[in-house]
Amino acid sequence: MENILKNNQHHDSDATCAAFGFDNARIKEAVSMLGLGAEHGKLAERIRSEIINEKADVFVESGCAALARERSFALIERNIGIESFRKAWIHRLQCYGQEFNTCGYFGERLAIAAASARAKIPLSILLLQHCLTQQMLITEVSVKFAENTSTVQPLIECILKLTSLHLYLTAEGYHLPEIGELRKALENLRKETSRLHQEASIDQLTGMINYASLMESLEHQITIAHKEMPKNQKDPGGNLLCVIMTDLDFFKDINDTYGHVVGDFVLRHVASRLQAAVRDFDIVGRFGGEEFVIIMTHANLELAKVIAERIRKGVMDTPLHLKELTIRVTISLGVAMLRQGERKEALLERADTAMYEAKKAGRNRVMIAKDADDSRTLPEL
Ligand code: GH3
Ligand code: MG
Ligand code: MG
Repeated sequence: MENILKNNQHHDSDATCAAFGFDNARIKEAVSMLGLGAEHGKLAERIRSEIINEKADVFVESGCAALARERSFALIERNIGIESFRKAWIHRLQCYGQEFNTCGYFGERLAIAAASARAKIPLSILLLQHCLTQQMLITEVSVKFAENTSTVQPLIECILKLTSLHLYLTAEGYHLPEIGELRKALENLRKETSRLHQEASIDQLTGMINYASLMESLEHQITIAHKEMPKNQKDPGGNLLCVIMTDLDFFKDINDTYGHVVGDFVLRHVASRLQAAVRDFDIVGRFGGEEFVIIMTHANLELAKVIAERIRKGVMDTPLHLKELTIRVTISLGVAMLRQGERKEALLERADTAMYEAKKAGRNRVMIAKDADDSRTLPEL
């Protein structure tokens, strides 16, 4: 309990309020619902300075004596300790109604209720505590200002309203452990889901995204690119999308010569070379056995060709060293730029055709997809 007080003094109240869904708007709403206004702030100040300041200890002593008659008071003794309970009560009296419309005030009372709930103190005993406080304050106010009924009435009304606020916050605070548990469970579920999702979208051999995830990304990027396609080539703001299809050259020979396990090392090696040669935001995925696809947004054919060439050279110039083996490998690449209204299947098909042209032309080269349609669909110069 004392920890709760300390924490709140360290402005933990905002977090507590947030945990219960109390933002400033909701605090305002609760306060106005209970009919608490600026005048009650002044009345509460009077209650603090003229009544509570002198009497807090006495109130709490007699309050504890009254509560001790309840059977469940033993739980306070055992789970919180009478001294902490007493101190917390005195502290709350000292701040009675002080800035009642703030996160600090709400948070502290919510936190105390939540801590009591965690300590298995029955809610009824806290509600009784508030009623005792109310009773003691009303009695004291009535005695002190007996001569002056016009003073007594607003003060009593203020005490009744603040008690309503305290009862409300206590009841709300009792839900924290449940909310906390629920939040934890949801958070774990979210993490697990995202872990599974990530695991499911990664190709285990190369660590690149797999076919399913690659297709999902391509679909998504194509939708965006269609919306942002430039009106003409002079339009600098547009988003052109290119794909590069790559395929290892004579990979079957590598498998046949060195075995499948070494073949796997080669695939991993090529994947890392591709990743190293593209821009940070380009997407590299494993399309199939020894085929990779690169999705490039904000890239025209010229740029895509430059990058494809960089990839080709990067693979060619970086052989894989495996123990005493040095394995040289090359790739063939086909580049295609998205046309207006084109679907991913057609775009990939064109990139694939270009890649096969590269194979036919002797491998270890880049070919650009172009056919009769390209001249019509490419932005005009
Ligand atoms: P080309 O230059 O015409 O592409 O010749 P290639 O030998 O690369 O073409 P081909 O399609 O005949 O061979 C591809 C080989 O890739 C066949 C298959 O065994 C191998 N392969 C596909 N997936 C994997 C894999 O995950 N690991 C290994 N080690 N080999 C794979
Ligand atoms: Mg192939
Ligand atoms: Mg091949």
